[in-house]
Amino acid sequence: MANLQPVRGTHDLLPEDMRRHRAVIERARDTAALYGFAEMATPVFEFTEVFARTLGETSDVVTKEMYTFADKGGDSLTLRPEGTAGIARAVISNGLSQALPVKAFYNGPMFRHERPQKGRQRQFHQFGVELIGVPTPQADIEVLACARAILAAIGLAGRVTLEINTLGDTESRANYRTALVDYLSGHVDALSEDSRQRLERNPLRILDSKDPGDRQVVADAPALADHLTPAAADFFAAVRQGLEALDIPYEINPRLVRGLDYYGHTAFEFTTDALGAQGTVLAGGRYDGLIETMGGPSIPGVGWAAGVERLAMLIEDVPAAPRPLVLVPLGEAADKVALTLAETLRRAGHVVEQGYSGNLKKRLNRANRQNARAALILGDDELARGEATLRDLDSGEQTPLPLADPLPALAAYRPADR
Ligand code: ATP
Ligand code: MG
Repeated sequence: MANLQPVRGTHDLLPEDMRRHRAVIERARDTAALYGFAEMATPVFEFTEVFARTLGETSDVVTKEMYTFADKGGDSLTLRPEGTAGIARAVISNGLSQALPVKAFYNGPMFRHERPQKGRQRQFHQFGVELIGVPTPQADIEVLACARAILAAIGLAGRVTLEINTLGDTESRANYRTALVDYLSGHVDALSEDSRQRLERNPLRILDSKDPGDRQVVADAPALADHLTPAAADFFAAVRQGLEALDIPYEINPRLVRGLDYYGHTAFEFTTDALGAQGTVLAGGRYDGLIETMGGPSIPGVGWAAGVERLAMLIEDVPAAPRPLVLVPLGEAADKVALTLAETLRRAGHVVEQGYSGNLKKRLNRANRQNARAALILGDDELARGEATLRDLDSGEQTPLPLADPLPALAAYRPADR
């Protein structure tokens, strides 16, 4: 017997789940379009180095979470753990860097081998935007405004908090790194094993640790804000002024460092306390070094990705499934009429279901279970008169419907958006 469980950390999206999921994506899509972003799709797998190089050899994603495999030709491939590296690769390989800026949005499945829990899966979906080629804070402000507008369109404006920080420029981070390592070296005994390893390879990451012992140490660590170059401080001030001009509330979180290595300057997260431990619904930042690291030209970028499952859990006004018209043919002659009638109605924008078998009562019961809006009953008597009986399933009212010209009387039963 085959194992019929889905792989751990993966989920089926049943029709009700899919409606939530699509509502999130459609609202995000419509909103991103208002900001001038165009949809793009890159492959679900890439050469491993596309991710290994850009996300940083020491990042959690690269060291622990990637689904990497050798394909039959011997190439090392990886199922994408995030969207930015693939978009950046596509910008280079399609020569899009000749016509900057590139403003792209994407959506699709991502894969990370991490411990499954509520809001954390091994296959999950992200919706993300990238604004590539603009070095000024205008771009940071625009992607943040777009994020905020999308969360508002999903109905979460009052339920999320924007936390931002600056990681400064390369020089600021180098200054800070020295100060941080000095401080942390005096507290090695209190650090977790993971963080002791990070101390040499990537000490900034320790700021982000969830280990309680690490957190205590980090609470008194020097702040990056005190090590910014004047240029980096100005950049961050401009981003904050933009947010204020747009009335986008935010909190500065000096401990916010993103989990991936390619970020500098602006880093941000939208969080909610409605989801328990996995409270980050959207996260991103500026990644000026990424494309160059990948072997392309030096092109700046800023963007973010949102977790679609986490947003789908929060959405309250899930659109209902459309209510169908159900055809109820009773007998062979009626079956033939129903076949063509169904097509005529569908072409006119009606959602049409048919009861595939059974007597009138059984079919009407099934129609009610499908939340049908009305039934079109086709019995021999009706057919002889060239009619069907239109039964409104909300009011129970029945009226004759001329089969030669059924559409006018059915107009009121067509879904509003068709
Ligand atoms: P976390 O701190 O939750 O692990 P992350 O820093 O790894 O998040 P990003 O790589 O920034 O997350 O991804 C952006 C968003 O994608 C997250 O804020 C979250 O909403 C979602 N996300 C990330 N990993 C998962 C996952 N394993 N399952 C479901 N959603 C996820
Ligand atoms: Mg993670």
